Amino acid sequence: MMSNGARTEIVELAAGVYARLHDGLTNAGIIVGDDSVLVIDSLRVPSFARELRADVRRLTDKPVQYLVDTHGHWDHAFGNEEFADATIVGHVNCRRELEELGEGWRQGVIARNVEWSEEIKTVRITPPDLTFDRRLELHFGGRRIDLVYLGRAHTSGDIFINLPDDRLLFTGDVAQDGGVPYMLDGYMADWIETDTRILDLPFDRFVSGHGPIGARPALQDARDFIAALVTLSQAAHREGKDLATATESVRAALDGRFGQWRGFARLGDGVGRAYRQMTPRP
Ligand SMILES: [Zn+2]
Repeated sequence: MMSNGARTEIVELAAGVYARLHDGLTNAGIIVGDDSVLVIDSLRVPSFARELRADVRRLTDKPVQYLVDTHGHWDHAFGNEEFADATIVGHVNCRRELEELGEGWRQGVIARNVEWSEEIKTVRITPPDLTFDRRLELHFGGRRIDLVYLGRAHTSGDIFINLPDDRLLFTGDVAQDGGVPYMLDGYMADWIETDTRILDLPFDRFVSGHGPIGARPALQDARDFIAALVTLSQAAHREGKDLATATESVRAALDGRFGQWRGFARLGDGVGRAYRQMTPRP
């Protein structure tokens, strides 16, 4: 384990496989092969991407060959332009979302007037140039790396990076260890199925896009959370409850088991999203 002294921490999970954790912000992954490096997620603005690349340089002088986008969200993929020397890999829907929704995400961050709102104005939104639909198997530096799409969830283009021999998984934002994911771009009913399929992958530990490194049981909890939230929301919708009433009842039902999770306060985002994705009542 090593640290660069900022709020980032680099953890070696297997020989040459690193999680770069960024406290309260977005995590990345670094996999050092025989001749080159694969990076997972480019972070939110070019200056963040350059800091990430400086950390790669501290680990190895091998060149970055691949950048893999777990999904298109700005805080994971708006540093892509700093990887012009690499092949940028992502799901076909990740590319489409960056093309169709990326500008809206940028405007949203500018409107929030946060620390990176100025820099984000200058970002050249750079979608993946190598896309796939179901699965891409890389043989990289003596290890197999499976890039797997399991359906819509947190976005329409979330992929999982699975290192079966190391029993490691990078989950992007579909699931965290003890945290409620961002749900306003989610596909709530599909998300349950996707979460269920994750549990079929060979892994013991996972790196989420946010929060700490987790172990397999935390992904079961993450699935249980989404399943309960969506099922309860849909039932409330069928009962004709208005959104505020539904949100309070879902909050009350989930508070005991999940109330201590990071981001529990934004549970209402998920209820509202589930409501909007129900077919209208007759
Ligand atoms: Zn996201």
